[in-house]
Amino acid sequence: MDDLSDLHAGSLDPADWSEFLSVAHRAVDDAVGRIGGLRDRPVWQPMSDAVRQGFHDPLPMDPQPLADIYGQVMRDIIPHAMGNQHPRFWGWYMGAGDLTGALADFLAAVDGSNLGGGDTAAALVDKQVTDWVRQMMGFPHEASGALVSGGSMANIVGLAAARNAMAGTDLREHGLAALPQPLAFYASDQVHNCHDKSMNLLGLGHRALRRVPTDADYRMDLAALRDRVAADRAAGIRPACIIATAGTTNTGSVDDLEAIADFCQDAGIWLHIDGCIGALLAIAPKGARLVRGMDRADSLATDLHKWLHAPFDVGCVLVRDRKTHLDTFSEEAEYLTRSQRGISAGEFLANYTLETTRGFRALKVWMMLKHHGVARFGALIDRNLDQARYLGQRVEDDPALDLLAPVATSVVCFRYNPGGMEEAVLDDLNRELLLQLQEAGIAAPSGTTIRGRYALRAAFCNHRTRIEDIDTMLDAVRRIGAVLEDVPPAARTA
Ligand SMILES: *Cc1c(COP(=O)(O)O)cnc(C)c1O
Repeated sequence: MDDLSDLHAGSLDPADWSEFLSVAHRAVDDAVGRIGGLRDRPVWQPMSDAVRQGFHDPLPMDPQPLADIYGQVMRDIIPHAMGNQHPRFWGWYMGAGDLTGALADFLAAVDGSNLGGGDTAAALVDKQVTDWVRQMMGFPHEASGALVSGGSMANIVGLAAARNAMAGTDLREHGLAALPQPLAFYASDQVHNCHDKSMNLLGLGHRALRRVPTDADYRMDLAALRDRVAADRAAGIRPACIIATAGTTNTGSVDDLEAIADFCQDAGIWLHIDGCIGALLAIAPKGARLVRGMDRADSLATDLHKWLHAPFDVGCVLVRDRKTHLDTFSEEAEYLTRSQRGISAGEFLANYTLETTRGFRALKVWMMLKHHGVARFGALIDRNLDQARYLGQRVEDDPALDLLAPVATSVVCFRYNPGGMEEAVLDDLNRELLLQLQEAGIAAPSGTTIRGRYALRAAFCNHRTRIEDIDTMLDAVRRIGAVLEDVPPAARTA
């Protein structure tokens, strides 16, 4: 039998606290060194076979020294990060991280509270952060909200509330089979694919999400929206929810939120805004005008690990009508009853989301907002808008580059085009150009296809980017492009 008096045989606490401390101190030193020296490193570098092989080690049955494991992390894992912390990373749409946030994630784990419920300071921090997001977005005082893992989760929470509110029956109780009429949702053809997942999981199916065409600026065509809603009504279908996007992933365009809000109000349709990219424009002195009308949404999804740069993962959903929100997600359980006093006296935050156990992701946002202040975040967002405009202008001024979409916010879609090439050849050339740019570690835009043309896509959501970083990328695009131009297509991907 185990010796129960021997603490260290029976717990996971370190047998040697000083060994733990020395590794932990080194980790902090290394973190500061790494983040401070990012600019001089490649944005991203491919992994060697040896590194890949290291992740096929057998299941570790026996203990190993923490210092050795830390060594492997620093040798094999950290150098092969995605690169989104680097000043020249502009792929997809990701925050660039922040050491205050990283420190907070450590402290949150040390605190260890379960945010599903309970009378803890952590729960109050969570509620405070949610309320700060509400204030930043201009939502009314009574609105509810929840911190979730990210934008996809924030969107499905909002859409679930929309579905239940618009169902015309007690959907939570009776399910989709009791719907008096089929429901239809509407979004532009630029909508993020997380909404397809939502439509599937909400039991409505992909086809219930009507894709409304977009205009030349990649914004939802409102005449087409009206026509589609009218046609559905005439066919006995209930228009339930319009998903407007504040900052589309492809081009950064923002739907006409005021006009869509007016339409929803007149037509009695729920307005959900996907603000994963653009909602935080609301705190930017110059950018705020781009999302005017956002505060009129019935529900709003935003991502705090994008333009707030909180380490992954954290997003936030707001719902104007708290009762609808709670009616959608709160459930009773005898093992989860609230008491007047004691640990279970707090509000059950699990009643606002799908999860029961929730981590203390609020702390990083709380510490970052306090440390940097909202005004600083707003100024950094405005700077990213300026950087996108700068890149857009340089592309327009360069005869060997095409701008493929108007620069609406922080996203620039462009391509190398020396002239005289077929579209399909241009697509291939730019696809290869992007990969070489990434593999050389120079800069990391991502790629997309818009209206049939392949585009290099630079999304400025980075507090470390400087104008000269954009020049560095453009020099490399010209250099790589000129070489590829002379290489016959078949020989390109050797
Ligand atoms: C990023 C994004 C999402 C998904 O958010 P995650 O945090 O990646 O889950 C949804 N919609 C839009 C417009 C986005 O840009």
